[in-house]
Amino acid sequence: MATVAPPTAVERLCLAGEWVETGKSFTVRSPYSGDVVATVARAGADEARRAVDAAERAMRDPLPPWRRADILERVSQLLRERGEELAQTICAEAGKPLKAARVEAARAVNTYALAAGEARRLTGESVPIAGTQAGDGHAAWTIRVPIGVIGAITPFNFPLNLVAHKLAPAFAAGCAVVHKPASQTPVSALRLAAMCHEAGLPAGWLSVLPGRADEVGDVLVEDGRVRMLTFTGSAEVGWEIRARAVRKKVALELGNASPVLVEADADLELATSKVATHAFSYAGQTCVSIQRVYVSRELIDDFLARLVPKVDALRVGDPADEATDVGPVIDGANRERIEAWIEEAVASGAEVVTGGAGGAGLLRPTVLRGVTPEMKVCSREIFGPVCSVIPYDSLEEALAQANSTEYGLQAAIFTRSIEPAVRAAAGLEFGSVMINEAPEWRVDQMPYGGTKASGNTKEGPAYTIREMTEERLVVLGGL
Ligand code: NAP
Repeated sequence: MATVAPPTAVERLCLAGEWVETGKSFTVRSPYSGDVVATVARAGADEARRAVDAAERAMRDPLPPWRRADILERVSQLLRERGEELAQTICAEAGKPLKAARVEAARAVNTYALAAGEARRLTGESVPIAGTQAGDGHAAWTIRVPIGVIGAITPFNFPLNLVAHKLAPAFAAGCAVVHKPASQTPVSALRLAAMCHEAGLPAGWLSVLPGRADEVGDVLVEDGRVRMLTFTGSAEVGWEIRARAVRKKVALELGNASPVLVEADADLELATSKVATHAFSYAGQTCVSIQRVYVSRELIDDFLARLVPKVDALRVGDPADEATDVGPVIDGANRERIEAWIEEAVASGAEVVTGGAGGAGLLRPTVLRGVTPEMKVCSREIFGPVCSVIPYDSLEEALAQANSTEYGLQAAIFTRSIEPAVRAAAGLEFGSVMINEAPEWRVDQMPYGGTKASGNTKEGPAYTIREMTEERLVVLGGL
C-alpha cells in the first residue's frame, strides 16, 4: 500500500501560508488496509478565525489579474510535474484505484490552467445607456469585483480536483480562501496548498484547516466576514448549511442517484459497457455514479446478459494495484449501510443478479433487479458499487421514474433515434442530460451542477468565477 509520509510525522496545516502544528492531531487511515497514511495537525475554531482575519487582510492588497493568472499557471505546471506523487496520495488516503487517481490528478492540471485563462479574460460589459433618453450625456459599464473571503468545504471523494474547483476560480476571481477539507482525505489538499505557495501565492490568501465540522465548519458558516461559502458534499449537510448561513452566498454541489434510460433501439454494447464502468468506478463513490438503469422491457434479458459478464470482469481489490478497477468504500460504516440497503431491498422482493460482499472489507460490484421506487437502493443516493436494472414500457414512464427522486444532477439516455433523445433532454429534470454517454461524464470546463436537492450552482472555472465575483455598475456623467 502506498503511503505518503512517514506515519509518525505530523502533517502541519496551512494557516495563512504558515505551516503550523496545533498540539492537536488526528489520524488518516487507508480505507483498504487500515494502515496509517498520515497524522495531521487539527485546526479548531481559533485557527479558523485567525485564517479569516488573515484572508480579509490579504484582500486589502489585491492581486492584479495577470499575477493571479501567472500563479495559477505555475500551480498547473507543478501539478503536471508531480502528478504521480499526487495520484499516490489520493490512492492512499481515499482508497481510490490508482488508475482513477491518476485521472483525477491530470484533471487538476486542467482546472488550474482553465482558471488561469479566465483570470486573464475577466471583464464586465458595456451597458447600452443611450438606449433611453434619460441616458443622454452618460456612459456606463460594469466591472467584476471579488465577492470577498471564500469559505470552501469539500468531500472525501475527489480530494484534489474538487478542491481545485474551489481554489483556482477563487484566486482567479481575486478572492482569498479558507478551506476545510474532508477529515478522511486532508493530505491531498495540504499538498495542493504547498504548491499554491510555491507558485507564488502570497501569505494570507489560503488556509487549509483539517478539523471538525462543528469547529472549523461552524466558523466558516457563522463568521460574517466569510462572504461566500462554496460547499461540495451530501445534500443533508449542504442544505442544512444553507439554512444557517442566511446572510451569505452559499453555492451547493450535492449528491445524485443517477439514472440512465436505455431505449429499445440503443446500442447495447455501448450502453452496457458504460454502465459496467460508470456504476462501479471508485466503488460507486462519485456524485454521478450510475445507480438506476431503466431499460425498455423487451431488452431487459439481453441487457443483463451483456452487462453481467462485464461487471464480473471488473477487478476488485487493493487500490494501489495498477489493475484494480474497484477498491474499498470509504469506511466500515458506509459499507454496513450499503449492505443493509441491499438486504432491505432483497427482503422486499429484489434479486441480486451479481455481486454482494467481497471479503477483506470490500463490496463486489452489485447489480439488482426487481427493485421498486420506494426501496432505498432506488430512492436515496447509495454512494456505493450498486446499480439497479428496472424495466419500463414507455418513454413517459421512464422519464417519470428517472425524475421521481429528490435529486437532479446528471442523467443519460441511450438511443439511436433523435426523437426520444430530444424528449429526454427536455423531460429529464437534471442539470445535465447525456445522450449516448454515461451520466458520470465530466470535463472541467463545462457547467457542472444540479437542480432540485442536488444543488443551486454551476462549477467549471468560468462559471464559478461568475459566482465568486459581483457585478458593479459604473456610470460616468457630464458627457
Ligand atoms: P459530507 O459528509 O456532506 O461532507 C462534506 C464536507 O462537509 C466534509 O468536509 C465534512 O467534514 C463537512 N461537514 C460535515 N458536516 C458539516 C457541518 N455541519 N458544517 C460544516 N461542514 C460539515 O460528504 P462526503 O461524505 O464527504 O461526500 C460524499 C457526498 O458528496 C455525496 O453525497 C456526493 O454525492 C457528494 N458530492 C457531490 C459532488 C458534486 O459536485 N455535486 C462531488 C463530489 C461529491 P468532515 O469530513 O470533517 O465530516
